[in-house]
Amino acid sequence: MIPDTFEYAAPTSLPEVFDLLHQREGEAKLLAGGQSLIPLMKFRLAAPALLVDLRKVPHLDVLQERDGSLVIGAMVRESRLDTSTLIRTRYPGIHDATAVVADPLVRNFATLGGNLAHADPANDHPAMMLALRAQVVADGPSGRRTLAIDDFLVDTLENALALDEVLTEIHVPRPATRSGSAYVKLERKVGDYAIAAVGAQLTLDGDTCTQAGIGLTNVGPKAIRAAAAETFLVGKPVTEEAIREAARLAGDAADPATDLRGPAEYKRAMVRTLTARALRQAFQRATGATGGGA
Ligand SMILES: Cc1cc2nc3c(=O)[nH]c(=O)nc-3n(C[C@H](O)[C@H](O)[C@H](O)COP(=O)(O)OP(=O)(O)OC[C@H]3O[C@@H](n4cnc5c(N)ncnc54)[C@H](O)[C@@H]3O)c2cc1C
Repeated sequence: MIPDTFEYAAPTSLPEVFDLLHQREGEAKLLAGGQSLIPLMKFRLAAPALLVDLRKVPHLDVLQERDGSLVIGAMVRESRLDTSTLIRTRYPGIHDATAVVADPLVRNFATLGGNLAHADPANDHPAMMLALRAQVVADGPSGRRTLAIDDFLVDTLENALALDEVLTEIHVPRPATRSGSAYVKLERKVGDYAIAAVGAQLTLDGDTCTQAGIGLTNVGPKAIRAAAAETFLVGKPVTEEAIREAARLAGDAADPATDLRGPAEYKRAMVRTLTARALRQAFQRATGATGGGA
């Protein structure tokens, strides 16, 4: 439970971060909230020679709507998302996901950037970000690039960042009118990682779906987009029958493993149930029954 020895740096600008990552290529790790990295180090599953703390780097804590998107700085902590009126009222799916990440102690430290960059299929935000069609911004010594969240999440604990790049911002498209989102999680006990969870987003024209997003948590090597279920919903009225068929297709998209959280077939069945619940909640929010927002 004691990490191997490591050096520590707390740079005050992104160029300093890039320099450190370049000088110690492959030996350095970025430190955000430390809620995934430090436990890994304590178990000696990770032993970086240098930790580069992002806490003193400016401008990574932005949280505002700008140019058609919600912009969330990578260092915005879960506790801030949890208490933000903007998130609660306009992006309820993100609020739902935040509220079920671990416990308040973890949420006081954990950051959205760390949650996504860690690329753990059990983390809650990746699936919600898939449903919302988020983009992530990576800064590095050769400039800035923007990636779809689908391309950012490569595999278990693997993201698309180069060794000298930093995830700096997450951009979520601003909700069109008659949009709603929701995140529904099944866990063994409060604060646990998901047995399975589903993020859903719907945009409606009347009762007809014009855009659908569905992301699945902890039922595959990475968060999964239920693409066939999304395609099925678009262009159709969001009836109970359509929701059930989309939920069936989402279950087919899951690729769960049997483990301590249950057999694979149980998890697939739970994906169907949770998808139906998330879609119903997103629909209610889109139609104003519970306050609207994306
Ligand atoms: C008891 C416990 C329960 C938990 N339960 C849940 C849960 O139910 N759901 C859930 O989603 N999570 C859960 N977590 C994980 C928690 O949300 C983590 O904090 C989160 O996954 C990582 O965020 P962090 O800011 O702590 O990142 P860190 O631990 O600091 O970093 C994680 C990884 O991301 C990299 N990284 C961090 N920031 C950046 C960046 N800006 N650019 C590039 N790379 C970066 C780091 O180098 C490291 O490899 C739990 C954690 C604990 C300790």
